[in-house]
Amino acid sequence: MTQVYDRVALIGLGLIASSMFWAIKRSGLAQEVTGFARSQETRETARRIGLCDRVCDSAREAVEGADLVVLCVPVGAMEAVAKDIAPALKPGATVTDVGSVKRHVVDAVAPHIPEGVHFIPGHPLAGTEHSGPESGFAELYDNRWCLLIGSENTDTAAMAKLRSLWEGMGANVEEMDPDHHDLVLAVTSHAPHLIAYTMVGVADDLRRVTDSEVIKYSAAGFRDFTRIAASDPTMWRDVFLTNKEATLEILGRFTEELFALQRAIRTGDGDHLFDYFTHTRAIRRSIIEAGQDTDAPNFGRGQVTGQKKD
Ligand code: NAP
Repeated sequence: MTQVYDRVALIGLGLIASSMFWAIKRSGLAQEVTGFARSQETRETARRIGLCDRVCDSAREAVEGADLVVLCVPVGAMEAVAKDIAPALKPGATVTDVGSVKRHVVDAVAPHIPEGVHFIPGHPLAGTEHSGPESGFAELYDNRWCLLIGSENTDTAAMAKLRSLWEGMGANVEEMDPDHHDLVLAVTSHAPHLIAYTMVGVADDLRRVTDSEVIKYSAAGFRDFTRIAASDPTMWRDVFLTNKEATLEILGRFTEELFALQRAIRTGDGDHLFDYFTHTRAIRRSIIEAGQDTDAPNFGRGQVTGQKKD
């Protein structure tokens, strides 16, 4: 693989940034990768494990001279970081991000990007329930989607380079409008996470089932919910606060469907339940056919977890 950028700066050194670093190194996509995290603890961990060629003590120092700056912090922190680094950005550089919500990031970050610097938001649809600098791995983006947000004003050369970087890290790239992105992700990721958080919360609340029973007899369905509900609280708080409308729209529809299924159970309408479950099973099959999950029993997990999600 050929080098795409001379210098890449990663701001925020958690799961997404560390996976980017290892994937960039795997394929030699940049000559130097600098990094910054707000806590000294994370910076020290990064230095200890060799995460980034150079770990800097300020975000400004990390972005100086960088051709690509990637904002890898929670969505709610993007604006403050953009404001902080703006004076140090190199003319002609590209700023991108990996945030799970796009309209908010566009509105919060774009006003701080200086003239002559390109801003192309992005979102890799890949992740795990783990976070922090030690959770990343080079293969995270292999055969996963990365959505890039372009507009009629987007510099085509800057977009092409960013696309090459993501493809070099193993991802398939598609361009999308920010509002459409937020609606799609509300369906595929945000609402399911909220439902998982709720389901685990409900089980925890049930006094008839003791905590130890919930854990001891944890069946596949509940276990999958607990994995999703173990995701980073800061990240997910920010997702819901910043993708309010689309998430509420999908949850409204979810509630209607839930009521219909509740009614089918109460009235003994087995045909309704059977048809519904047949339809959902077909959706699962099409996800496997699209190469976005494995058909192996127990999601191919065996004894080890490490399921991908976004
Ligand atoms: P993570 O592992 O929790 O790492 C977050 C990083 O951001 C840490 O380095 C943290 O610094 C830093 N940070 C947190 N709050 C900050 C603040 N207020 N100001 C400055 N820095 C701050 O998170 P992640 O999973 O890599 O997620 C990063 C971004 O990727 C988020 O926007 C998320 O929406 C998006 N994303 C996540 C996934 C996923 O599944 N995890 C998938 C796709 C996209 P310290 O370590 O010093 O606290």
